[in-house]
Amino acid sequence: MYDAKFVYTKIPLFAVSEQKEKKKVVALLSGGLDSQLAVRMMQEQGFDVSAVAIKTPFCDFDCGRGCGFEIRERADDLSVNLKTVYLGDEYIEMLKNPKHGIGAGFNPCVDCRTMMFEAAKKHMEEIGAEFIVSGEVLGQRPMSQHAPSLKLIEKESGLEGKIVRPLSARLLPETIPEKEGLIKRENLGMIRGRTRRNQLDMAEKYGIENPPNAGGGCLLTEPVFGIKAKDLFEHVKDPTINDIDLLKIGRHFRLDEETKLVVGRNKDENEMIKAIALPNDILLEAKDHFGPTSILRGKNAKEHTKFASSITLRYSDAPKNQEEIVLIINGDNSKEISVKSVEEEDYNKFRI
Ligand code: SF4
Repeated sequence: MYDAKFVYTKIPLFAVSEQKEKKKVVALLSGGLDSQLAVRMMQEQGFDVSAVAIKTPFCDFDCGRGCGFEIRERADDLSVNLKTVYLGDEYIEMLKNPKHGIGAGFNPCVDCRTMMFEAAKKHMEEIGAEFIVSGEVLGQRPMSQHAPSLKLIEKESGLEGKIVRPLSARLLPETIPEKEGLIKRENLGMIRGRTRRNQLDMAEKYGIENPPNAGGGCLLTEPVFGIKAKDLFEHVKDPTINDIDLLKIGRHFRLDEETKLVVGRNKDENEMIKAIALPNDILLEAKDHFGPTSILRGKNAKEHTKFASSITLRYSDAPKNQEEIVLIINGDNSKEISVKSVEEEDYNKFRI
């Protein structure tokens, strides 16, 4: 529910008592609108806000999906220091067996948020901040933003009572900074649910230009990506960042328990496949026709070369009913084989 008690003013960032040092808080900044509003609300209450932005192998801020790719600009607009923390191998390790399960895609939201808050907590302790702020809105996301999850995430990250969610704070239990009088609870929000009407209204009044679209860019919530990620984690004991980079491109085929084929969908993906290839991977391309670069990865890659060649040919401009040459490249070695395109019903069953 929108609360008319919000005091909307252009923030006089320099104006809060210059005699008195401002108390510090750390904000988790995603680049989305809600976290920007949370920062503004804390600045309005006179805090010196530092932001922490978290990158993971599934969101590097540069994918152009709209979540955080402008994050540095957003931080500058908000006049906050920005610390970026990369959760790489430890994030993959968590994803092998998330303690609190996964959502509708392959998204381990409770464990993911816990790791993000742990990173923010570390920064809070380093700079002597009082508490952490996040733009979470009660009931906005099914897995991580209902009241029990918010409480669980606080507990798991060792931050009980120390996370303030300004947008929904008055619908949530009182936090330590509220009890201690550091924050005025009456100026906090009562927003609930998925509608963005209140936030857009606040954005306008806070002078946040071009508020980003809702939804964010977490690949793990996307159903198709989730299926590919699940397949990877089921078949590879220790997936690497390189494996995850490969998940982001191409058409994927599971050829056996230990081997997969990825077929590029366009020129950029073909280049990426070549860049991602490791010494044991096999690259395939139609020799005389425009078409994809494919990559065969896994223990039995060599055994699948012929079938993979016929799939690669299928996605090329080569005529479908005659033998054509496919180049097989393995490191510095290459050879040619002659194959026909495979029939659709013969390869579709391997599609992930
Ligand atoms: S949507 Fe993605 S980034 Fe957000 S909490 Fe869930 S897993 Fe983490």
